[in-house]
Amino acid sequence: MSPVLRMRGVTKRFGSHAALDGIDLDVAEGEVVVVIGPSGSGKSTLVRCAHQLESIDGGAMYLDGELLGHEEHRGGLRALSPAGAAAQRRKVGMVFQQFNLFPHFSVLRNVTEAPRRVHGRDRADAERDATALLERVGLGEKLHDYPRRLSGGQQQRVAIARALATRPRIMLFDEPTSALDPELVDEVLGVLRGLAGDGLTMVVVTHEMNFAREIADRCVFMEAGRIVESGPPADMFGAPKSPRLRAFLSRHH
Ligand code: ADP
Ligand code: MG
Repeated sequence: MSPVLRMRGVTKRFGSHAALDGIDLDVAEGEVVVVIGPSGSGKSTLVRCAHQLESIDGGAMYLDGELLGHEEHRGGLRALSPAGAAAQRRKVGMVFQQFNLFPHFSVLRNVTEAPRRVHGRDRADAERDATALLERVGLGEKLHDYPRRLSGGQQQRVAIARALATRPRIMLFDEPTSALDPELVDEVLGVLRGLAGDGLTMVVVTHEMNFAREIADRCVFMEAGRIVESGPPADMFGAPKSPRLRAFLSRHH
């Protein structure tokens, strides 16, 4: 079976600086991959490239075996049309550090907007699904509230429900708790734990090391645009091989 997400030799440069320098990564169906590493190591760039928010300069990425961002044309490859790329992007859900909800929409409408506008779902249908998703993230009581009335943890849970509403094949989380007050972190990690338990395929960038160790099927340590070490969390945290991972973990425990 092909992995849900496959990255092969992916490079991304900003000017002369390689933010990603030959990334090989497979994420299997139902797998939770946690990405750790120092600031500036390329973690955000990795998930942004997988969501086609950034173009890549080399290598290739596949979703369910389908090449991302390009299509075959006369025996070669050409960039996908914007519509083609948008269709691929909709199969990937992303949650950012900043939740970026639509401030003038209710919680319910934040979640129904994409299914209705982009997928053409009818309103009753979209609202039924959105209500179930909002109940799943513990916000069944907040359907008609506006984002400004919610705590950061609640807003991030709306953002998670919104990303799930288009039924993505994979969810990417980029430090989903980094912008939250410490007392609000656990409610969001609890939602991620639930999604992982439900078998959702996920890539999670986080600095929450205890959480990483607990939730990951596989952990990936990045530095300077490369994957330095990866493996089961028990090995990575219990017996790190590379001196760099050891040094990183001694700074973050
Ligand atoms: P991380 O998420 O691990 O902190 P990033 O992926 O944000 O790291 O950044 C990786 C490297 O790429 C850093 O050196 C950063 O400064 C650089 N970088 C990221 N985004 C941009 C951008 N839009 N323009 C220029 N440089 C960038
Ligand atoms: Mg980042």
